[in-house]
Amino acid sequence: MNKEIANKKWLSIFEGQVPAIIAGPCSAETPEQLMSIAKSLPEQVKVFRAGIWKPRTRPGGFEGVGAIGLEWMKDVRSETSLKLATEVATAEHVDLALNADIDVLWIGARTTVNPFAVQELADALKGTDKIVLLKNPVNPDLGLWIGGLERLVQAGINNLGVIHRGFSTYEKTKYRNIPEWQIPIDLKTQFPNLPIFCDPSHITGNRERVMEVSQQALDLNYDGLMIETHNNPDKAWSDAAQQVTPIGLKNILDNLAIRNCSD
Ligand code: PEP
Ligand code: MN
Repeated sequence: MNKEIANKKWLSIFEGQVPAIIAGPCSAETPEQLMSIAKSLPEQVKVFRAGIWKPRTRPGGFEGVGAIGLEWMKDVRSETSLKLATEVATAEHVDLALNADIDVLWIGARTTVNPFAVQELADALKGTDKIVLLKNPVNPDLGLWIGGLERLVQAGINNLGVIHRGFSTYEKTKYRNIPEWQIPIDLKTQFPNLPIFCDPSHITGNRERVMEVSQQALDLNYDGLMIETHNNPDKAWSDAAQQVTPIGLKNILDNLAIRNCSD
């Protein structure tokens, strides 16, 4: 992949906020839930996330509200100044999200592992100027992560970034997904212009530790954070243990030490 292709210009949607913050619930549940969270987010948040198609490891869990969630998200955009982000996992999701003018489309960790799936998404996204963020694959394989980026670059997607959300392990550790910091560090060394976000929510799986991992990411000069935020985390329909409240998020953002500013 050409090192120069990835650029940081698109980070301007964060209006100069460093770190760039994406926040919102793991899943869209109801229109009221989305609006209530969106309206109580701290002012540092410029992009609102919500998953509407949820990749569940096993069947039977909440699989997302589906395309209707795009309408609820559009209502959030008209009632706030927030930009919108959601996960896409199939070409149909991409078409629907692009039609809804979603600003940031992210590719989830369970999708990044599959080159056929990433290629299908790259083809559907071909030439878009929307922002596309590629999460690391669930397994600690830098080649697979870079391969996914190459497929997107080949499809003419220039507003590209990555999200580090940790890696699966069969070991019992204090993390839900171990950070393996060396892997994103190696990626950053190879592609210094590629914006990188940390997702401390999926790394920790535990809201008490979101602050600590966010700080580690900022100490490594990450460009931004994606933090799952819910108005009633304990009752969330997915990822209840790791979501913070909007007030909890403000607390985290107000207390993070920003040592190195991104260029
Ligand atoms: C999510 O962001 O809610 C999600 C499903 O993430 P991941 O792909 O990192 O598991
Ligand atoms: Mn989640």
